[in-house]
Amino acid sequence: MMGDTVFGKIVRKEIPAEILHESDRVMAFKDVNPQAPTHVLIIPKEEIPKASDIDGKKHAELLGEMFDVANAVAKERGVDESGYRLVFNVGPQGGQEVYHLHMHLLGGRQMRWPPG
Ligand code: 5GP
Repeated sequence: MMGDTVFGKIVRKEIPAEILHESDRVMAFKDVNPQAPTHVLIIPKEEIPKASDIDGKKHAELLGEMFDVANAVAKERGVDESGYRLVFNVGPQGGQEVYHLHMHLLGGRQMRWPPG
């Protein structure tokens, strides 16, 4: 059964989220605990647990759509010119908490490097 993660529940509309984009394959919604003025999560509806489960050939179109959505969100939120950060946390030391693939889009403030 798909998605016993919190994001699976958002995909199935079992719990609410502030959804900014939705297609047959991809969804974008606001992070519930934002770390920047703009903090949006872009996810595939298909449950891929983490970035290391991506198969470049199999998931090429899906990943392309996720980046198209990220680009559209950046424009809509007005951070496309100022810049922003796209992040995939992978596994325990990567800081991943939800095991349903998601790309963070963070913007609206100066990002620092190295990240924490
Ligand atoms: P991770 O640490 O796995 O890369 O990021 C998970 C993100 O999901 C965190 O930034 C966290 O705030 C967000 N998050 C966790 N639960 C929910 C939820 O129920 N709704 C929304 N919108 N975001 C969530």
